[in-house]
Amino acid sequence: MFHKKTIAELSGDLAKKTCSSVELTAGFLDRIEQHKDLNAYITVDRDQALTQAREADVMIQHGKATALTGIPIAQKDIFCTQGMLTTCGSKILSNFISPYDATLIARLKQAGAVVLGKTNMDEFAMGSSNETSFYGPVKNPWDTSRVPGGSSGGSAAATAARLAPAATGTDTGGSIRQPAAFCGITGLKPSYGRVSRFGMIAFASSLDQAGPMTQSAKDAAILLNAMAGFDDKDSTSSGIAVPDFTETLNHDLQGLRIGLPEEFFGEGLNSEVASVVEEAIGEYKKLGAEIVKVSLPNSHLAVPCYYVLAPAEASSNLSRYDGVRYGLRAQEYGDLIDMYQKTRAQGFGDEVKRRIMIGTYALSAGYYDAYYLKAQQLRRLIAEDFNQVFEQCDVLMGPTSPTTAFKLGDKTDDPVAMYLNDIYTISVNLAGLPGISVPAGFDSQGLPVGLQIIGKYFDEARLLNVAHRYQMVTDWHRRMPKEYA
Ligand code: GLN
Repeated sequence: MFHKKTIAELSGDLAKKTCSSVELTAGFLDRIEQHKDLNAYITVDRDQALTQAREADVMIQHGKATALTGIPIAQKDIFCTQGMLTTCGSKILSNFISPYDATLIARLKQAGAVVLGKTNMDEFAMGSSNETSFYGPVKNPWDTSRVPGGSSGGSAAATAARLAPAATGTDTGGSIRQPAAFCGITGLKPSYGRVSRFGMIAFASSLDQAGPMTQSAKDAAILLNAMAGFDDKDSTSSGIAVPDFTETLNHDLQGLRIGLPEEFFGEGLNSEVASVVEEAIGEYKKLGAEIVKVSLPNSHLAVPCYYVLAPAEASSNLSRYDGVRYGLRAQEYGDLIDMYQKTRAQGFGDEVKRRIMIGTYALSAGYYDAYYLKAQQLRRLIAEDFNQVFEQCDVLMGPTSPTTAFKLGDKTDDPVAMYLNDIYTISVNLAGLPGISVPAGFDSQGLPVGLQIIGKYFDEARLLNVAHRYQMVTDWHRRMPKEYA
């Protein structure tokens, strides 16, 4: 039964000593082994996990436990993890054992959490379905013929199937929220700068942000408490104070002003998703919230703007994979240039190559003003839209994704259709705002639907409060896929 429990519940069990971290960790390791078919993990190191669990048990014995001590957490394979394979879903890093821990990993270890394993993901976090991973696609535990979403699909599937009590993810354009929605879990993308990016393999540095993927908003608060805060190793991490996110979870929602952007409910939104979201908003009205109709007029520019900026930043970030310092090197080559070319041709997958080409083009002399600079200007307009609507409301609500999980292979031949899946999430990254996806119900095929809640800068406490109150009056977040219950 341990696997049906949240972090908060397991933490209570560990404190009462009704179970040990070693028992818990071994239990989850066994479940991972049993459900390998989901392909949710790239690397699992049983010995390392159990060693950390033993150390956590000692901390607990000595009365030095935090809320995370002894809790096994699945880590997206984008976070450098000392002494462990860290691939970022790519062939080019298929031999990379990280010599150091990302700040996020170091902080979770410091809090006593156990690294359960490294989860599968789209290559370099580029994708919305986990199908670009060199290690093969992940399956959605609610229907294994469907995708779990991406790029943090392994983390979402692992949490949904309870192959971990919770996981970490990263979100550049939706990669925490969209897979959370597809897998029926809670996923929080914090404000840009809230969580250190040091040791998190870079995709698009001005957009990337790490966050928790959990069963509940309460668990997300517990994880964010340990993850958040200034880091002198990341100059874009914010010095803003980090509150205790668990303390405000129960605040009353009476008078909360919820903005509904008309652009989030228009053409392209699946009707069943729309009705689930409307029902969730009805629940908020019962909790005392007021509804305000608002507009984000530049929303339609978010996807094209993102698909210039993100590839531009990626083309620069990925230039470091050249076969010289670390990672894969082609076996046979002529001169140095040939070595670069063969290494990169062999090491990167198609989607990554597509993005490098688009990004290099957008940044090249002669096209820079027309594409990159233009996209930067649009980004400002999109952010301004949010500033305006947040004068009329406290949070925004809408669907996380226009559809529920689609079939494996359905969109692999049509990159634009794939890109459009992030239509409601991408503008949030462009503006640097926090957003959370919360399970809100199911469609007629039994697939989970996510409600997205968007907040003001650094207002994660409010998002978690708003999500938690909903989870106190609904039980969507406690539903589990039958085969994994
Ligand atoms: N799906 C988007 C992309 O492919 C977002 C990915 C992400 O958030 N890492 O770029």
